[in-house]
Amino acid sequence: MQTECCTLCGTDVHLVRGNLNRNVDLPVIAGHEATGRVVAKGDGTDTDSVGQPLELGDRILWTRTNCGHCYMCTVAAQPTLCPDARAYMYESMSQPPHLLGGMSEYVYVFPDSGRVVVPHTIDAPLASMASCAFRSVVHAFAELGPVKPTDTVAVQGTGPLGLLAIGLARLSGAHRILAIGAPDSRLSLATRFGADVTLSIATQSIEERRDVIFQETAGRGADVVMEFSGQPDAFCEGLTLVRRGGTYLVVGQLGSDEIPFRPSQVVHRNLRLIGSLSGGVRDYWTALQLIEAHQTELPFHNLISRSYALEFANEAIDAIASQTELKPRISMFAPHRPT
Ligand SMILES: [Zn+2]
Ligand SMILES: [Zn+2]
Repeated sequence: MQTECCTLCGTDVHLVRGNLNRNVDLPVIAGHEATGRVVAKGDGTDTDSVGQPLELGDRILWTRTNCGHCYMCTVAAQPTLCPDARAYMYESMSQPPHLLGGMSEYVYVFPDSGRVVVPHTIDAPLASMASCAFRSVVHAFAELGPVKPTDTVAVQGTGPLGLLAIGLARLSGAHRILAIGAPDSRLSLATRFGADVTLSIATQSIEERRDVIFQETAGRGADVVMEFSGQPDAFCEGLTLVRRGGTYLVVGQLGSDEIPFRPSQVVHRNLRLIGSLSGGVRDYWTALQLIEAHQTELPFHNLISRSYALEFANEAIDAIASQTELKPRISMFAPHRPT
């Protein structure tokens, strides 16, 4: 696969900073949100994973592998949780097949990886964004189940995942969407993705935010709260915002920090607590379909920030870590300063 574009994600920052809560077999090639053009292929690759013709020169997204014959792959039907999965960006580049990270001119796609052809109408940065950020949101919504037309949904976090979740909640027909985040520029973007009310973590206290959410919901709390901020403290705030019998969908938490947590809150208020990790080939395909159908109405392009040549990848990591940019992208064949 010849890499066309690799967008960055918070997980890249955790990887580079060494605080990712999983095993990493160093040295690795960072980057996992990439779009590639097929430059060579093996046997049995005439179609992608959903049956679409696949030819040299096509652009694809690819998934981690799953073994297809373990308990999680078969009985549980949750292949994203396969214990024998091989993921990109975490295996040593010193071992064959070496090229398993997106910040590289070429990437090797495992024969067992799912792959989906990218429609011609979608440009490489948006397709790349679909290969982690958006497919994770799509998968989380699948874990959640249908959003009802009467549901008030509160979304914590106005980074790329939170903004995409706001957009998908809007497309799913949510009654009201409340966005919690910062800075103001991201809250404005939240409005453009479909938020009815925005609440700032920079200028409003937890109590003020909670008061607004309870006023908006006749004193009940939100039917569904979604955690996409990744801040451990946000989990405690989010739990208090769910109505009795409501659902808390937790997606953003990937770090290793711990927080005090009173489990009886879940019982007393009959909460449904759902975690969601990653996404499978169905979610990649769905994410691409949603972008193709709605890219004129939702501001997906505003999620993509500056373009960096590969040699400036560390600057791109700093830009996303300091939240000065939403989603920088690495361009493989353009040696230039960031634009
Ligand atoms: Zn990611
Ligand atoms: Zn398996």
